Amino acid sequence: MSALRQIWDDVAGLWSLVVGLKVTGTCFVRDQVTVHYPRNEVDNLESFRGPIELVESPDDPAKPRCIACMTCASICPHECITVVRKKHAKTEEGADKKEGESVKGEVKKKVSKEPVRFTYDYTRCCLCGFCVENCPAHSIRFSNRGYLAGFDKNAFIFDLLEKFGDKRRGSG
Ligand code: SF4
Ligand code: SF4
Repeated sequence: MSALRQIWDDVAGLWSLVVGLKVTGTCFVRDQVTVHYPRNEVDNLESFRGPIELVESPDDPAKPRCIACMTCASICPHECITVVRKKHAKTEEGADKKEGESVKGEVKKKVSKEPVRFTYDYTRCCLCGFCVENCPAHSIRFSNRGYLAGFDKNAFIFDLLEKFGDKRRGSG
């Protein structure tokens, strides 16, 4: 190898070093855009689209808004959602008399629906949002749970009624 070629290689190597140091230096002084997980976590996950969850009823936060219509279960392209509903009859006194309706003092039957089981397989979910957009009761939203981890895929099959606890189950 000629001396000229050697000098050229040295200059090219030095130039590469300068360019690399410039990139490193620029990133070093910029605002940090990542966190050192798991030592640090992102402060604001509000816009994060995590696994779905059920929304509380505005009348009774111990219950979900869900009316067990099954729309989400049937529309989900990956069959992530399983809903089991329980129908139970409520009785109430009728209001003003109208054709085909009960009169005041008469007992009329009203069938209410609520889910007794609502499972969601996050391992199959593509977060497409069909369930969220099509729920007629606006009962599903994306959570911002961004730090899920587990050793078993069953850890990602969620009982979405769990957060409503025993109070809701006892009311069925
Ligand atoms: S976000 Fe999409 S894939 Fe996930 S549960 Fe809803 S409909 Fe199914
Ligand atoms: S979450 Fe919404 S779409 Fe799904 S069963 Fe309940 S009311 Fe129907």
